Amino acid sequence: MPPDQSPEAKFDRLKKQLQDSIVRDYPNPERKGCPGDSVLKELAVRPLELTVEDDPHWHHVTHCSECYREFLAENSEFRRRAMARRTRVQWIAAVASIAILGLVVLFATRQGWLFSQRPQNAELALVRQTVDIPSMLRSGEASERKPIVIARKTVELTIQLPVGSKAGAYEFQLRRDRVPVVLASSDAAIRNGTTAFTVRLDLARLAPGKYEMYVRQVPWDWNYYPVEIRAE
Ligand SMILES: [Zn+2]
Repeated sequence: MPPDQSPEAKFDRLKKQLQDSIVRDYPNPERKGCPGDSVLKELAVRPLELTVEDDPHWHHVTHCSECYREFLAENSEFRRRAMARRTRVQWIAAVASIAILGLVVLFATRQGWLFSQRPQNAELALVRQTVDIPSMLRSGEASERKPIVIARKTVELTIQLPVGSKAGAYEFQLRRDRVPVVLASSDAAIRNGTTAFTVRLDLARLAPGKYEMYVRQVPWDWNYYPVEIRAE
């Protein structure tokens, strides 16, 4: 026996020796007094802590090589199934905890506990604004008008043109010191007597301040209106 053998290994070795001796030393080929399969199966699945020393069936099995061999086979099969069942339960528990964790994360995210509530894309950050232009000024004309204030954001700007404006292709520009900095184009349509078109503008990159808004129906002349891009 190796000197460093653990108590468990020593116990297993002695158990194996005992089992081998029972299987070898009590031959009963005629199966005299054997209790039958159902009793062997019952003994094989009996919990270890239940004592079987007083059980006459157990006494027979430990003194009958044939019965004991069958008992060992049943017991080994039972333990194999129990192990598989335990593994399956552990798997189900693991999958269930992952699913529950997922639900918790989803709920916490919805509640804004995990991540900030900032808009995740430009669509959510989009500001819709309608600008009403009662009349246009000719390019270059001095204006005493108050500028139209537009938010310095991604803006979906609907421009309602002066009464009588025609539907069709329109061009839009924002200029600063006469230099175009934003270009867009769109088709105007007439709804309920109002001619309007909509352009989507990324104004967040612009410096706040005074700009000129230029609008024209293609291919006619540009018209002009003062604008102020204002940070919130
Ligand atoms: Zn027997």
